[in-house]
Amino acid sequence: MVCPHCGEEIPDGVAYCNECGGDVNAAPSTPSPKLAGATATAGTTSTERNRARRMSETDEKIQNTGLGISIVFILALGIVVICLIALFLLLRH
Ligand SMILES: [Zn+2]
Repeated sequence: MVCPHCGEEIPDGVAYCNECGGDVNAAPSTPSPKLAGATATAGTTSTERNRARRMSETDEKIQNTGLGISIVFILALGIVVICLIALFLLLRH
């Protein structure tokens, strides 16, 4: 079976996930009937779940790199301003 918390493959009948330690029986994200109907097989459901997990990880990475992108943007803006000032000084002569 697949852990409802982290999506890792875990042995059947275990109470707690080996990967994340989450309570397998207290499934917080049980697939909705709509989702279960859309996905034909259990394998597809697992793939969908893994894809959703990967997407959430990507979201976290984007949030974590938000500050880094800001710093890069400010640096780029500073370089542009310096170039404009240099150009202005050159044109004055
Ligand atoms: Zn888990």
